[in-house]
Amino acid sequence: MPCKVILSKEISSTFRWIIKTRSYCHHHQNLNYNLRQNYNKSSLQYLVLKPYREELKATIKSRGIKPKLVGFLANEDPAAVKYAESTSKTCEETGVTFELRKCDKEQLEDQIVEANEDDSIHGIMIYYPVFGDRQDQYLQNVVSASKDVEGLCHKYIYNMYHNKRYLDEKQTKKCIIPCTPLAIVKVLEYVGVYNSVLPYGDRLHGRVITIINRSEIVGRPLAALLANDGGKVYSVDINNIQEFHRGTGLKLKKHEVRDTNLKIEEILPFSDVVVTGVPTPSYKVPTDLLRDGVVAINFSAFKNFNDNIKEKASIYVPAVGKVTIAMLERNLLRLYDYHNYQS
Ligand code: NAD
Repeated sequence: MPCKVILSKEISSTFRWIIKTRSYCHHHQNLNYNLRQNYNKSSLQYLVLKPYREELKATIKSRGIKPKLVGFLANEDPAAVKYAESTSKTCEETGVTFELRKCDKEQLEDQIVEANEDDSIHGIMIYYPVFGDRQDQYLQNVVSASKDVEGLCHKYIYNMYHNKRYLDEKQTKKCIIPCTPLAIVKVLEYVGVYNSVLPYGDRLHGRVITIINRSEIVGRPLAALLANDGGKVYSVDINNIQEFHRGTGLKLKKHEVRDTNLKIEEILPFSDVVVTGVPTPSYKVPTDLLRDGVVAINFSAFKNFNDNIKEKASIYVPAVGKVTIAMLERNLLRLYDYHNYQS
């Protein structure tokens, strides 16, 4: 951002504040107005994913390519089955060849190895939970990095936690980011929580974000991504609250984590954004603790916000599953290109 370089430190910070406040409020008000005019369960999700889906569709068609994704389903979890059905439908619409392979848990590892070696397959995903324990983390690493559309293997997770954004020295290949955290980033970009006036990597400067979930698949990677982009993130799980941050004035290259003794009642009133992923039907975020105009996003299969959230929040996103699938396809296309580029 030029003003950061040209202006003195004092003026620069005032200017930054004005720009941030103006662009955030302006964008927010317009979007808020539009959303309130035409609100339904998936409208915002649809608005976010539409450009990605259209671009994917156009790219696949114009280049005449046939990227192939294989999904492994080794459980009967209704959320996983629904996700698999939804992936299949979306892939058909965008021109991606999708094959769902159902198998027993015990056969899954061998089947992944086979798919890793099959040149006709460009992407592999697994519907979790499979074993529901650390064995699932092992399976994430059985998937070859060159086909890991979910971005869950060690290499991608390591790069993400270390704020390493490219796979190569020349910075031609962007890292693969886990799909659900990436989908939530895209929602936050769309609604203007990311301040596009600020430089890339700094666009959440000044934002306070609470994430209620610290799973290895969504909550923890999301906290790291948002902190690496400059946000101050409170990561809440069943045991405690951690703070993810990049230090005063973003002095750190990557985020740092510290345990706190804070309680949720102390952080919610100051949070610009609250993201929830508690997998139980009884869990509800107390609406009265939220600040007026909060951006509220739920990714749990259960509704973690009460119905009156719509009166408190400026933006309420009840689900992100469809955007997640768009990110999955985006990652697939990227891996397809990396593979062809290498060969
Ligand atoms: P998980 O069980 O691995 O993690 C749940 C997290 O919530 C843990 O960090 C736990 O400590 C925390 N938690 C539970 N109860 C809590 C409480 N009372 N207060 C604070 N924190 C609490 O689950 P997961 O894999 O992260 O999935 C969570 C939910 O998100 C599920 O409903 C799943 O179906 C859904 N999900 C959606 C998408 C998507 O839409 N794209 C993707 C993945 C998961």
